[in-house]
Amino acid sequence: MKPQIAELRRLIEGAAGVAIVAHERPDGDAVGSLVALTLCLQNAGKQVSSILADGVPSRFRFLPGSDEVQRTFPTDCDLLIAVDCSEFERTGFKSEDLPRSVDVNIDHHPTNTHFGAVNIVDPQAAATAEILFDLADPLGLDVDSHVATNLLAGLVTDTIGFRTANVTPKVLQVAARLIEYGAPLAEIYERSLNRRSFVAARYWGRGLSRLEQEDGLVWTSLTLEDRQHVGYTGKDDADLINLLSTIDGAEVTVIFIEQPGGTVKVSWRSRAGLNIAPLAAAFGGGGHHQAAGAMVTGDLEQVRERVISATRAIFESDSGKGK
Ligand code: AMP
Ligand code: MN
Ligand code: MN
Repeated sequence: MKPQIAELRRLIEGAAGVAIVAHERPDGDAVGSLVALTLCLQNAGKQVSSILADGVPSRFRFLPGSDEVQRTFPTDCDLLIAVDCSEFERTGFKSEDLPRSVDVNIDHHPTNTHFGAVNIVDPQAAATAEILFDLADPLGLDVDSHVATNLLAGLVTDTIGFRTANVTPKVLQVAARLIEYGAPLAEIYERSLNRRSFVAARYWGRGLSRLEQEDGLVWTSLTLEDRQHVGYTGKDDADLINLLSTIDGAEVTVIFIEQPGGTVKVSWRSRAGLNIAPLAAAFGGGGHHQAAGAMVTGDLEQVRERVISATRAIFESDSGKGK
């Protein structure tokens, strides 16, 4: 057993109260990993608080156990675990909001800063959920159908339905095991990836109406006014980026989502062979080779100008090529 895993086992055994946090603006891997680990530790007799700064997005509320997620930390706990966070700031909390510093950091981002006292980071893993599945046995934790459903939601969403280049035979074997444990693949796929609200579709329409293309680059923007006009209450792109990245010839797709207070959320997606993580890191963000993001200060126009010209440059240099 790896020393970090033995240490995690020791920490869990010695803790009565555990708090688990995942990242702000949570995706399916953040929610699924958080809730799966929560349920496992509850089944092992622990008192567990699961926390998301932004709460659970409606599309993931079908996940069993997701209704227990809180938005704030308890005043006290013996063990604090972060899942699917590449750096502490991704939790969406300040250190003074936490009852203690992060003991354990479990993640799969290549840009992970190893901010925990114990760090279990595997950039080869397709999702944090895959790491957690592998940890269950050595930690002596049971996977039941609810745990399996949450873990499979993490795998399905982070791989966009097993479509990303990091889907190995092992990922599919883990998925098959999770289905054997009772996870309903078709329902998870339908609810967490396919289904849209009418409002989200209208919001997409605003972004689609100003879609631009130049060589292998495709981009668009979503404004505060768009969200107000259609009544979309999220601060995100409602996953429009995944639709844009299916466009023929789009080697790199970028979306700019205007935020209140003079910042812009930027999301990049690339086809296999172009690594956009360093570009996102250069703008203060991070992510994976083919999916990265950053929160950039400036007005929409300025940020778009800077980001598009920097993104164009990765086609011209070799820096984005290879892995
Ligand atoms: P998104 O574009 O928000 O769907 O994120 C794509 C990937 O980039 C995810 O793996 C995120 O964890 C990562 N990411 C997004 N925004 C940030 C950020 N501000 N800082 C670090 N990583 C980010
Ligand atoms: Mn995530
Ligand atoms: Mn993830």
